[in-house]
Amino acid sequence: MALVTKAVKGTQDILPGESFKIQYIEATALDIAKAYGFREIRTPVFEHTELFSRGVGDTTDVVQKEMYTFDDKGGRSITLRPEGTAGAIRAFLEHGLFNEPLPQKLCYLTSCYRYEKPQAGRLREFHQFGVECVGTASPAADAEVISLAKDLFDFLGVNGLKLEINSIGCPECRKKYYEALRAYFSDYKSELCETCLGRLERNPMRILDCKSPVCGKISAGAPKITDYLCDDCRDHFEKVQAYLDAIDIEYTVNPRIVRGLDYYTRTVFEFVSTEIGAQGTVCGGGRYDGLCEELGGAKTPALGFAMGIERLMLLMEKQKTEYPAEQKCNLYIASTGDGALKKAMQITTQLRRDGMSVQFDVAGRSVKAQMKYANKLGAEFTMVLGDDEISSGTAKLKNMQTGKETQVTLDTFVDDFMNIAIEQSMAALQESFEIDESIDISSIIGNKF
Ligand code: ATP
Ligand code: MG
Repeated sequence: MALVTKAVKGTQDILPGESFKIQYIEATALDIAKAYGFREIRTPVFEHTELFSRGVGDTTDVVQKEMYTFDDKGGRSITLRPEGTAGAIRAFLEHGLFNEPLPQKLCYLTSCYRYEKPQAGRLREFHQFGVECVGTASPAADAEVISLAKDLFDFLGVNGLKLEINSIGCPECRKKYYEALRAYFSDYKSELCETCLGRLERNPMRILDCKSPVCGKISAGAPKITDYLCDDCRDHFEKVQAYLDAIDIEYTVNPRIVRGLDYYTRTVFEFVSTEIGAQGTVCGGGRYDGLCEELGGAKTPALGFAMGIERLMLLMEKQKTEYPAEQKCNLYIASTGDGALKKAMQITTQLRRDGMSVQFDVAGRSVKAQMKYANKLGAEFTMVLGDDEISSGTAKLKNMQTGKETQVTLDTFVDDFMNIAIEQSMAALQESFEIDESIDISSIIGNKF
């Protein structure tokens, strides 16, 4: 096979055998978001470049090094979204969502694009589940957003993630902190990487986030932001911690967390795993009280998080977290001859409308080949229709697990199938367990059909 081309470096295909997993994660995320009152927002995959240079910040790695930026045919500078917050906030401002009851609680599932060196947990196209709570400065909102992320991990059965929180203060308290950082780092000018040298003047806090081992080592001895917080920011941070304590969420304060993005203020947090290598941050978030104003709107405090779906799945793979089984083919109707094929189509159409997964032969194969295919699909029941069955109006329904065959009447089959399937599953269950007769197993089995 000589393929014309392969998938672009740093991108991934999600094949049918895996897609049910991501569907499950996404559906669970949306369910939990809903329970918290967050509603989905969908924004375009590309935006005007200035949205990100302003909204993410032009001293960040994302803007300086990682964006997919190009001129479109009309000469506009366009960028594929590297993250979800800037687009969500642009839409919030553009459509006047600030006139709706506040806070507006938004969530999204999006693809993101960053030109980074591909490695485990680092892709050029990846996916995020994110939430944004816009229009509240209360520390209770910080605790709520953190709790949402935690609930999702707990519900999925992911464990061992460490929640680390910090406060990076407001522009006021950061002024003093920046001075202290500049004084500290200027002693190491000859050792800092090129990028960090540039950051020293404009945004020295970003140096703490540098991935270079040398800069990391130097950063370890740097002054801590928590020693420079103003009274209001300190009070906010203490309340966030008190609220997390109140709902039994464990955390550690890590003064090194600054997050990569410029618009963060006050609370920042990460859920970190030690099980998936260097790219251990599965979820990162925080408050960005300055972003709406930065994008031309009124000052509107807000916060949110973004969770990397691929990193989450890596961790789930590592921990062998169980996913609910994919819905199997409930029934395969094999057929021979055109009359039988039509009957198979009719029955299938009806049962599918009842929510059943049913298949018939769309490949014109022999009955033997059809049965082989049904087996590979893992069909729970099969039925063969030919001239005899059509003329007699009866057929044999076979339970593929027990081998048991049941005579069925085609005219009433659509109505009967569900009952027969439930009956046989009940019998199989009763055989494999000693079940107390008083337990209503039909309610257990009912979920399956
Ligand atoms: P990192 O320090 O790993 O580069 P970041 O600070 O750039 O992360 P954010 O911008 O906060 O990450 O994005 C939120 C989440 O999105 C991350 O915690 C991670 O789970 C995921 N993520 C970020 N970049 C990538 C990537 N290139 N590939 C896969 N997932 C990513
Ligand atoms: Mg990054």
